Amino acid sequence: MTRRRYEVLAVRYGTRTTCASQVYLNWFQYGEPDYPLDMDYFFWLIRGQGRVILVDTGFTPEVGAQRGRTTTVPPLQALQRLAVAPAEVDTVVLTHGHYDHTGHVSAFPDAELVMSGRELDFWAGPYSRRPQFAHSAERSDIEVLVRRDQQGRVQRVSGRHVLAPGVAVREVGGHTPGQLIVEVDGRHGPVVLASDAVHYYEELERDRPFVVVADLAAMYAGFDTVSELASAPGAVLVPGHDPLVMDRFEPVDTATSDLAVQVG
Ligand SMILES: [Zn+2]
Repeated sequence: MTRRRYEVLAVRYGTRTTCASQVYLNWFQYGEPDYPLDMDYFFWLIRGQGRVILVDTGFTPEVGAQRGRTTTVPPLQALQRLAVAPAEVDTVVLTHGHYDHTGHVSAFPDAELVMSGRELDFWAGPYSRRPQFAHSAERSDIEVLVRRDQQGRVQRVSGRHVLAPGVAVREVGGHTPGQLIVEVDGRHGPVVLASDAVHYYEELERDRPFVVVADLAAMYAGFDTVSELASAPGAVLVPGHDPLVMDRFEPVDTATSDLAVQVG
């Protein structure tokens, strides 16, 4: 049987400058001087076998501005520049409920929306309204998800779920209660889209959990899962917010070299 192979793009739509002490949990424990760190914002696109799967949808430029984030290319414009019409997207995977991943779900009314049931229930539930959680989500985005779920138009997943031959989502939790990662048979080998299970290569390499965390033990377990998947022969790891992604992979083409790289 031939393996299904997909083209996988990482699309960078935003950025901000922060520092290590703002990014890593309990930074003081490491006893190291602080240093500046850029945080880039991405979504991902999986194409092939007649499928167009969007992984996350970015924040809207308005929400980005309110939160002091720079939108380098508004996500919907980014798709346009990559010659992807919203109607072509058959599936939208939301890896978790944070604002920088949920901003444009309404632009894909007919796509199948895939999300962890546990994640959805968390954001619909009472603890998501407590300040430390509420800070990371846009209530109006959550309402869109909840409505869609009430209409029976969310595919709720748990554990490991095969979306298509050669594309699977896996619930790891940690960063949020139902954080998903995506495993894809890319054209050159397995691609692990870690989303926010791993924000930075350094986070995994130095075993330093991210500051925003729902379950720390699950976050460490997620590191182990991602490490194992990424150690398969020919596998590549794509963290959720690392500017190095734009350096480590080749641009899709010269016209969009500021915007998208081919990770698989
Ligand atoms: Zn994020």
